[in-house]
Amino acid sequence: MNIQFLGATDTVTGSKYLVRHGDASVLVDCGLFQGYKPLRLRNWSSLPFAAADIDAVILTHAHIDHSGYLPLLARQGFAGKVFCTPGTADLCRVLLPDAGHLQEEEAEYANRHGFSKHAPALPLYTREDAMRCLKLLHPIPAGKHWQPAPGLTASLTHSGHMVGSSFVQLEDGSRSILFSGDIGRPNDLLLRPPSQMDGADYLVVESTYGDRLHKDSDPMLALGQVINRTAARGGVVVIPAFAVGRAQSLLHCVEVLKTQGVIERTLPVYLNSPMAAKATQVYLKHKAELRLTSAECEAMAHTAHIVESPEESRLLNAKHGPMVIIAASGMATGGRVVHHIKAFAPDKRNTILFAGFQAGGTRGALIVGGEPMVRIHGQEVPMRAEVAMLDDLSAHSDAAEIMGWLRGFKSAPKQTFITHGEPAAADAMRQRIERELHWPCHLPYYLESAALS
Ligand SMILES: [Zn+2]
Repeated sequence: MNIQFLGATDTVTGSKYLVRHGDASVLVDCGLFQGYKPLRLRNWSSLPFAAADIDAVILTHAHIDHSGYLPLLARQGFAGKVFCTPGTADLCRVLLPDAGHLQEEEAEYANRHGFSKHAPALPLYTREDAMRCLKLLHPIPAGKHWQPAPGLTASLTHSGHMVGSSFVQLEDGSRSILFSGDIGRPNDLLLRPPSQMDGADYLVVESTYGDRLHKDSDPMLALGQVINRTAARGGVVVIPAFAVGRAQSLLHCVEVLKTQGVIERTLPVYLNSPMAAKATQVYLKHKAELRLTSAECEAMAHTAHIVESPEESRLLNAKHGPMVIIAASGMATGGRVVHHIKAFAPDKRNTILFAGFQAGGTRGALIVGGEPMVRIHGQEVPMRAEVAMLDDLSAHSDAAEIMGWLRGFKSAPKQTFITHGEPAAADAMRQRIERELHWPCHLPYYLESAALS
C-alpha cells in the first residue's frame, strides 16, 4: 500500500488521503480546504490524479472539511461509491447541498455588491452539483467489513465526534492503516465516547488540539454565565456554531440551563439555521449514538425558535436583547451568522460567543484574536461587543484525551502520521507521542507520498 496526503497537512482542513494498492485506489475523506486564502485556492487547483480512476471514497464523517470536496470530485468524473455510516450519509444529505447553496450565495452577493476581485465571482460548486453527488452515497453500518476496492478490506468504528463519525481501517491482507478522522471526547455532552481501537501497522491521527488541553470547567456553567451577564446588559448573545453537532450541544445546554433555572425560561433563543434544524432531526434518528434519553433528545430539539426564511433572519437584526441567536457558520466565514455579527458586534452590550476551534485565516480567528475592525461584505465593522470563547464545547479530543486513546492500542504502529492540526499543534502532538509512547512519528507535507511496506 501507498498513501498520498492531499490535505490536512499543516492545517485542520481539506482532509483527503489517497490509498493505493496495486491498481486499486481509495480516497479516505474528501474534504474542502477552508481558512487562509492560499489554502482555499487549493480547492480550485486540479487533483494529482484523474477523479474517474478512483475506485471508491470512504468518509470518516460528514463535516465539510472531510466531505465538502465530493461534489467537485463527482463533477470531475468520479462515479464510484462513497462509503460511510448511515448517520454520515444522512448528514451529508443535509450538509452538502447547503455547502453548494452557500457557495452560490457568496458568489452572487459578491457580484451584486461588486466587491469581488473576479468578475463575475463563480461558486466553487453549486447546490445542483452537490445534489448529484449524493446519489453516490453508500451507507455501511459500523462494525461490518467490506471491500471498497479489489484487494482492500475496510471497516468503520464509532469515533464519538458527531453522529455517524467513525474511525476508518483499511487492510490489504498483510498491512493495515487506521485513520482517526476527528476523535470525539470521552465526556461529550451528547455523544457516546469514541470506541477503543486495537491499533494498526500505520496510523493517521488528527492533532487539532495537539498543543492544548480543554479547560476542566463546566461548559454548561460557562454558557449560563455568558448568557446571564449579556442579558443583564440587555444585550444579544450571537453564537456562531457549526450547524451539525455544536448547534445540538448548545441547544441541549440551553434546555438544561432553562430547566435548572440558571437562565430565564422566557429568554428568547433563536436557532437561525434551517440546516441545523434538519441536522437535529438526523440526531434524533440516530439517538443510539447519543448518551441522552429520548425525552432529553425531544427537549433539545424543541428548546429554540427555529428561524426559517431569510426575511425572518433579517428581522432578527432589528430586535433588541436580551436574546440568544445560534447560527452557522461556526467560524463566521459565511452563512447567516455573518449578518448578525455585522449587526450586533458594534454594540458593546452584546456578546459574540465562539463555541469551538477557530482555524487561522477565518473571520472567527480574527475576532477571537481581538481585531478592532473586521471586514464583512466589503465593509469595515467595529468589534465593540464582548468576545467570549466556549472552548470546552469542542467535539475534538484534546492532547491528553488523544494520548489516552492511543495508550489503549494493543500494539504500536510502525509509523504514525500526524495530520489535521496547525503546525504548532501537530508538532506538539509528535513530540508527545515520541516522548511518551516511543512511536516513530512523521508530519507529512502537502502532496507527500509514503510507502506502507
Ligand atoms: Zn469534524
